[in-house]
Amino acid sequence: MNVLIIEDEDKLAQYLVSGLEREGFTVQRTASGFEGLQLAVEGAFDAIVLDRMLPGLDGLSLLKALRSSRRTPVLMLTALGAVDDRVEGLRAGADDYLAKPFSFSELVARLETIARRRDGGDDGAQADTGRLSLFDLAMDLEAKKVFRAGGVVELTAKEFRLLALLLARQGKVLSRGEIAERVWDMNFDGDTNVVEVAIRRLRIKIDVPFERKLLHTVRGMGYVLEDRGA
Ligand code: CA
Repeated sequence: MNVLIIEDEDKLAQYLVSGLEREGFTVQRTASGFEGLQLAVEGAFDAIVLDRMLPGLDGLSLLKALRSSRRTPVLMLTALGAVDDRVEGLRAGADDYLAKPFSFSELVARLETIARRRDGGDDGAQADTGRLSLFDLAMDLEAKKVFRAGGVVELTAKEFRLLALLLARQGKVLSRGEIAERVWDMNFDGDTNVVEVAIRRLRIKIDVPFERKLLHTVRGMGYVLEDRGA
């Protein structure tokens, strides 16, 4: 069984990786939510262990984005034991939920259960294509291609990553600092000019040639990708 672990706590992640490998699982691990989404969409995993609180893209947003294209079974981990939290996770498409601290044998049992349920194929009709989209803008995460109104849009690697973040979080305002941190993996200490430049370039490619604008500036707050109609 091929398992992806998306967990930023190194000690816990290492414990899970070595434990699951001892059980005979093939394990891949990332500490980053954004990279986790990429791997989850591109890879063929039998199950995913997803931490809820992650730097960059948080577990819940990652899960919602993943569920727009893939049905890979997800076991969500949380430090928060609240009932609301559990409901929110399950509603976002988690197959099961485990509160920290948990026993290793319980984790293994639950992982095997959700993976087996998946093998039952009760959701075979669901598309499994690795796409993110908004109106006539579409991103194929596997082919690393972007289309607007059916035509291919050429993007740089950073622009692709920036657009993937905006698409995954569509309808939500992202601040310049948040974008800097998530796309460039670093803190810009207030100097977010690099984000403004990248947004301008992205806009020229995905919005300027088209009548219907999807990338909007929210003054004093940041940017949002959303369809506000004609
Ligand atoms: Ca965490």
